[in-house]
Amino acid sequence: MVNMVTLINKQLPPELVSLLRLAGETASQQGQKLCLVGGVVRDLLLERANLDLDLVVEGNAIELAQALVQTRPGKLTPHPRFGTAKIQWPEWSFDLATARSETYARPGALPTVKPGSINDDLFRRDFTINAMAVHLDPDHYGETLDLYGGREDLQSRLIRVLHNRSFTDDATRIWRALRYEQRLDCRLERNTHKLLTRDAIMLETISGDRIRHELELIFKEELPEKIIYRAEELGVLSQLHPALRGNSELAELYNRARNLTTPSPPPAALYLALLIYPLNSQELEKLIVRLRLPKPLAVTLRDTISIADRTEPLQDPVLTPSRIHQLLQGHAPLAINAGLLATDSSVARRHIRLYRDKLRYMRTTLTGDDLISMGIPAGPDLKTIMERLLAAKMDGEVTSRREEEGMVKGLLSSISGQ
Ligand code: ATP
Repeated sequence: MVNMVTLINKQLPPELVSLLRLAGETASQQGQKLCLVGGVVRDLLLERANLDLDLVVEGNAIELAQALVQTRPGKLTPHPRFGTAKIQWPEWSFDLATARSETYARPGALPTVKPGSINDDLFRRDFTINAMAVHLDPDHYGETLDLYGGREDLQSRLIRVLHNRSFTDDATRIWRALRYEQRLDCRLERNTHKLLTRDAIMLETISGDRIRHELELIFKEELPEKIIYRAEELGVLSQLHPALRGNSELAELYNRARNLTTPSPPPAALYLALLIYPLNSQELEKLIVRLRLPKPLAVTLRDTISIADRTEPLQDPVLTPSRIHQLLQGHAPLAINAGLLATDSSVARRHIRLYRDKLRYMRTTLTGDDLISMGIPAGPDLKTIMERLLAAKMDGEVTSRREEEGMVKGLLSSISGQ
């Protein structure tokens, strides 16, 4: 059996290991039990990099954190309401939580929390592979606490809930299951699979904010399309909106998005814009309400649909630059990129690119003040003339300040002649 101490020493930087040991000693002096828990234990066993250290204290996490910063000064942020504390050192940080037990008054409700044992704290967790702990007190340093067979499941690459009510208690675990399944190259254990498809409907009990948070986490994964594909397969995606698709076209779009933003990964909003691209505006409005999307994001997504609706006129090969500008102006830059990635027409792509890279930055040489000093009063006429001037410049009809002045004079006489 693999020794946890060996894995800790192999994978965590020595300074961090000494902080863990110090934390264990300090807890023990206070008569408290301290364990490393959750994702980091799982990742130590998988030998995957993870420096997000979650510690659980049987007793009082804030007291331990206070004592710890006395020995190794760091920035302490306590959250007395939750019995948690974060310690930030220049290079490392610890998240400490008081062990707790949770009960769910009704499906989807936030749990009722009370202080508990480390065992209670493991029982409230989502999957066996995330419900392991490693003791840090000096007498038991490195011993694993694995009450639900997490280690074996990790070896067999299985995602397994701890009990049959898990997804009804908290249906966000459904999306979490799919995320871990794809990220860690696991499969849903048979009963968990059955429970997940049975309980997919329980996603209705989850608030928009919490679902949105799960989606944001999915969009941070390396290949979100795999999770979305699986979500469609298992009837989870349709709970979000029946018209969403997790197919090979989406995978292709996500690939293009990664190529576009490389070396950075695409922003979550771009992934979301490409996901909602096939929706019509009523469908999008429903999703915006369901996910309680913040206004700027909602605007970007509406712009995305608006561009999708303009693909047809944008396919016209003889469009003038000013017409392209008219079709695309005012749309959010991210929506423009989504449209560029999602349209099948090479002509439309060429037009969108022209707008994105050139037209949207173009300005007339003459300013509004220049026009006013030429005798045009501030007001709607001035705006119209500026727009016509800009269109003429885009279409190559005027190419210098002098030509712009000539055009303004012509327009002026036609206005005054009306
Ligand atoms: P990741 O797994 O994404 O690398 P992580 O394991 O630290 O990160 P978090 O979302 O930060 O995951 O949650 C920390 C731990 O809290 C998880 O390992 C899991 O044990 C538990 N947890 C998180 N969300 C839930 C939930 N909805 N239900 C039960 N347990 C949860």
